[in-house]
Amino acid sequence: MNDLPDRRLLFVHAHPDDETINNGATMAKYAAEGALVTLVTCTLGEEGEVIPPGLAHLAADRDDALGPHRIGELSSAMDELGVTDHRFLGGPGRYRDSGMMGTPQNDVPGCFWQADLDEAAGHLADVVMEVRPQVLVTYDGNGGYGHPDHIQAHRVAMRGAQLADRRGHRIERIYEICYPRSVVQAGFDRLAAAGRDFPFEGVASVDDVPGVVADEFVTVAVDGAAYADAKTAAMRAHASQIAVDGPFFALSNDLGQPFFAVEYYRQVAGAPPAADGAGRAGDLFGSRA
Ligand SMILES: [Zn+2]
Repeated sequence: MNDLPDRRLLFVHAHPDDETINNGATMAKYAAEGALVTLVTCTLGEEGEVIPPGLAHLAADRDDALGPHRIGELSSAMDELGVTDHRFLGGPGRYRDSGMMGTPQNDVPGCFWQADLDEAAGHLADVVMEVRPQVLVTYDGNGGYGHPDHIQAHRVAMRGAQLADRRGHRIERIYEICYPRSVVQAGFDRLAAAGRDFPFEGVASVDDVPGVVADEFVTVAVDGAAYADAKTAAMRAHASQIAVDGPFFALSNDLGQPFFAVEYYRQVAGAPPAADGAGRAGDLFGSRA
């Protein structure tokens, strides 16, 4: 394809909502700047816990209709972020949500945790060959917090990059999603200082946030402040999974967490990053933006 935009990024995520929580501002920013932002989501998130009582019947242990519902939520979220290229790995419903680690859902045939790695990575490599991204973003090797689908998404992303390399497209930079510990702590301090009642049951802590790392491991900080509203709107679109209250939000554990409009990345492969004075770049493509 000769008509691709100059800058192209690929985000690989486990469930609908992960992309918005972790990279929503980044995706909106690059899309607004004319870059091609491609999202590959590996499952429909069928096993997610449902927050609004009115949607509780969709849950896997009731109607088991959450997957199709979350396709719609993801589509609305992508509209809010201005992202037009979003796909499901191997097509919608090809891989089922594997549930939390240690649950019987991990063993269900057809779940993502049971997927053949090279087959799944082959689907991703097809996407890579089509959109030829310079940048790949996914989770760390523990999937940020040990969820089997997040771990598998990391494996598929790394293996997919390898397979695409063999087919003739080398991704220039690969990043893991991360959160610098000092930033997360400051976020929770803000939450504590807000001193008002939240609709959440309690407050999370730094250790509840997936992918927290020591500050010095962070390679890139993407300032998405101009896209904070778009990220918030996209989070609201994932209404079955996320409760938003001002600059804070909660997942199905109903513990309040701070919202971040600056998003952080740790480069794990590719060309050396361009660092600013603080040793961190502002751009995933390696320019000193
Ligand atoms: Zn997830």
